[in-house]
Amino acid sequence: MKITGEMLIGATAVRGSDATLRAFDPARNADLEPVFGGGGAAEVARACELAEAAFEPYRRAPLETRAQFLEAIADNIVGLGDALIERAHAESALPKARLEGERARTIGQLRLFASLVREGRWLDATLDSAQPDRKPLPRPDLRLQKIPVGPVAVFGASNFPLAFSVAGGDTVSAFAAGCPVVVKSHPAHLGTSELVGRAIQKAVADSGLPEGVFSLVVGAGNAIGEALVAHPAIRSVGFTGSRRGGLALLDIASKRPEPIPVFAEMSSVNPLFALPGALAVRGDALATAFVDSVTLGVGQFCTSPGLVIAVEGPHLQEFIDAASAALDKKGAQTMLTAGIAAAYADGIEQRDATGVARMATGASTDAACSALPALYQANAEQFLTTPQLQDEIFGPTSLIVVCADEDEMIKVARRLEGQLTATLHLEGDDFPLAKRLIPVLERKVGRILANGFPTGVEVSYAMVHGGPYPATSDSRSTSVGALAIERFLRPVCYQDLPAALLPQSLADDNPLNLWRLRDGELGPN
Ligand code: NAP
Repeated sequence: MKITGEMLIGATAVRGSDATLRAFDPARNADLEPVFGGGGAAEVARACELAEAAFEPYRRAPLETRAQFLEAIADNIVGLGDALIERAHAESALPKARLEGERARTIGQLRLFASLVREGRWLDATLDSAQPDRKPLPRPDLRLQKIPVGPVAVFGASNFPLAFSVAGGDTVSAFAAGCPVVVKSHPAHLGTSELVGRAIQKAVADSGLPEGVFSLVVGAGNAIGEALVAHPAIRSVGFTGSRRGGLALLDIASKRPEPIPVFAEMSSVNPLFALPGALAVRGDALATAFVDSVTLGVGQFCTSPGLVIAVEGPHLQEFIDAASAALDKKGAQTMLTAGIAAAYADGIEQRDATGVARMATGASTDAACSALPALYQANAEQFLTTPQLQDEIFGPTSLIVVCADEDEMIKVARRLEGQLTATLHLEGDDFPLAKRLIPVLERKVGRILANGFPTGVEVSYAMVHGGPYPATSDSRSTSVGALAIERFLRPVCYQDLPAALLPQSLADDNPLNLWRLRDGELGPN
């Protein structure tokens, strides 16, 4: 499939005339063909109006049609073949093997949501029968189901050009909920976005759905994203990126005449607690695995472990020495964009300026748009009195915080900002300390893991990829996994509605064969 540099507005391809943009190959430090035409408020308005027009028919289409639509997108992405991987590799400098894995994850995610749609538990169908003889007052007939909120705006992530971009987690969970989607193309992978966008556009047409179910807009600078969030047809926003970008969109959304929610996934340093028993038994192996995790994908993971917290002692010193030696051997690698490489260099400069000790720096190379790994060490006192040490530096760096004792470790845990994850490395004799930490961490993070690394995020029913601010703008949900659908639904209660007017999901004879909560009993009733 040819990349033309056009936007996809409903069923059409439109060349924007407000500006020109080019994709960039960060490894070669060179522009890529073709030139993209950037649109503006007019194209955003057209995409949003089409999305609004598509909302009623799309949400009323049978669940089976919706599920097959998601599967058609998956098939069409597979059909793009190697051209998709080649283009994503050129635009992101991510290794092809990693991108093939990400494509598999994207397809698996679409299929998971297709089965979720069919199963229908997310409708939360609930029936409370009328009690006409109840004293002192009769109870009405009450029935509840969840409905989609309306058109959703999606801002894909730079670091997952497939799994968290045009057909990524935000888009697929919105589609699954019954919401049309308008995606704002990420400037870091314009060509990849167009290819995937065309795969979705074709699936919309082949599924017989209204064209406004999907649009992809492209623009230079912030204006197009601002116009999208401000458009009255948009009812919710999914975003992954910087804290500054997420907060800017949140500000626009909250100042609209009718404010809307923004589900922004922003920044997290993902503390890793190396408990004394684990350091004693396997400190060396832990140090090597930790450095591999910090430098994986040039540290460009929202779950990269940017903070290690441990209690001082000889085993911790051995861990620090081993981690420093391992990190010293890691070379510089090309980052996703020149801007992200510059932001990393700036973050490192600011960390140096705090006066914490730099323990290791990595082996230098001449890669373009590159980041050199760095490992820092601070004591708990420095950490507790220097708030900027909690800031995410997006890239291959981490900070080891040395606590005097277990009480100080708990104090540091209590002072942490909201995070996506917290990791415990522990052995059996660490369980008493872990039992003190876990209740503190439950209030700070969306996922607590043991004896692993947070950088792999499984797409499944039980996954939570969310957490309190600044990890996200709303800690009550997740942007990865089946629960992500909840962000784009809201409950409606029907009181004493005649049977002929009830939605199918709430009809007495349960024609959709859903699991429902009926008079407090859960089952296919
Ligand atoms: P970004 O600069 O926040 O951009 C993300 C998307 O939002 C882009 O499409 C961008 O488009 C748009 N945007 C940003 N600010 C906007 C504004 N004020 N108004 C309207 N649209 C806006 O993030 P990024 O380029 O992906 O990465 C930069 C930094 O984000 C990294 O250095 C890292 O700190 C962080 N990051 C975090 C995660 C995470 O998961 N926690 C993931 C990726 C990146 P335009 O620039 O075209 O407006």
